[in-house]
Amino acid sequence: MFDRAIDTMSLPPGLADQIRSCNSCYQLKFGVKLDDRYEVFTGWRAVHSEHILPVKGGIRYADFANQDEVEALAALMTYKCAIVFIPFGGSKGALKINPRNYSEHELEKITRRFTQELAKRDLVHPSLNVPAPDMGTGEREMGWISDTYQNLYPEQVSGMGCVTGKPVHLGGIGGRTEATGRGVQFGLREFFRHPEDVARAKLEGTLEGKRIVIQGLGNVGYHAAKFLSEEDGAKIVTIIERDGAISSADGFDIEAVKQHVNENRGVKGFPGAEYTEDGSALLEADCDILIPAALEGVINQANAANIKAPLIAEAANGPVTFAADEILREKGTVIIPDAYMNAGGVTVSYFEWVKNLARIRFGYLERRHEERRGQLIIDALEKMLNTPVPQEIRDQLTTGADELALVRSGLDDTMRNAYNEIRNIFNSRDNVVDLRTAAFVLAIERIAKKYESMGL
Ligand code: GLU
Repeated sequence: MFDRAIDTMSLPPGLADQIRSCNSCYQLKFGVKLDDRYEVFTGWRAVHSEHILPVKGGIRYADFANQDEVEALAALMTYKCAIVFIPFGGSKGALKINPRNYSEHELEKITRRFTQELAKRDLVHPSLNVPAPDMGTGEREMGWISDTYQNLYPEQVSGMGCVTGKPVHLGGIGGRTEATGRGVQFGLREFFRHPEDVARAKLEGTLEGKRIVIQGLGNVGYHAAKFLSEEDGAKIVTIIERDGAISSADGFDIEAVKQHVNENRGVKGFPGAEYTEDGSALLEADCDILIPAALEGVINQANAANIKAPLIAEAANGPVTFAADEILREKGTVIIPDAYMNAGGVTVSYFEWVKNLARIRFGYLERRHEERRGQLIIDALEKMLNTPVPQEIRDQLTTGADELALVRSGLDDTMRNAYNEIRNIFNSRDNVVDLRTAAFVLAIERIAKKYESMGL
């Protein structure tokens, strides 16, 4: 995918190789004493590109993790950050573990030990390498990482910025947990603001009433499905989870399904829905938008030709393989690529990191000032027009933006701008064949410019 973009560009010889290569990948093996035994764990932290520091990217806990995957995901982080134009290089980490097999106490011990090993090598560091949540990890693990790091280096005033995705009371930021799903919503909204793009996907209108098949009701899939159905009127007609899939032509109440999944460890048995044991078969279901929000490589050579959705929004990292991508493009399927579509997470991570370095919450200084200004405008209007300002407008004008409102505004702006930059490249260059190639071109151009002006 990278090479396809490079072929459309004219970079100085060798620069593409410099951008493509993964700079380093540490493999760590460390022992942890659990209740009645010792266990040796394997983890990685890959640093793909250090054209800007710190490098950024999540840490996943998965028993299928391996070095190749970590390096590929680190590369994706480099391009993701460049596409949404946030000042980070790309990194990724993984621990080879199935977190379901360990108690909370054991996971804490393992995470703290992993953090020490990473910190020793500057692979967790507020100005060098800043991890975040990914598959199998969340704010709980980020809290442990942050606390371990800050205990090691209490003198570092910016220590809190060593990791993002922390709980809000530990220096996290409002809206980070939902950020990737929110970004999928904002990205899709922007796509539907361009009727020509919608028509290319053989669709029309807005998100209202669109039939969505979603794979994965984890952090990303849950929030994307919730916001798209509750706020945009889309219908989530099929939900694919670990234990199978459920379908309902009327669309699901995502909160109710989530509760069922939490209580039953799966979607099976959700009242009033049709259950299919072979869940992944429903990636091929007839729908308007397919949102893979779980694993890599789920749309591949084996099923690509049968995918009926005219639009795929890649909420997961790498859900469509290279071979499948070719098949789908030939079929005319429009793909909104992962490096853009799921960049909401790292975007809000950026806001959190800035907040940690500044050690002040967003909106703290301006909020009441803004409210006073709103009141002044109302007073002036009422004086001049001699009629009261309607309550709804009054409420809006006298509510200053708090941190969550500012995070949403910043994320919305980021997703809108980036989509327009991608589509401009796609529309203006004949040899750029799809949105993914355009997104790569956008990222590589930005990174290349940086290298060229650094003179490396
Ligand atoms: N793990 C997320 C991703 O793949 C977030 C990374 C971050 O916030 O640094 O984009």
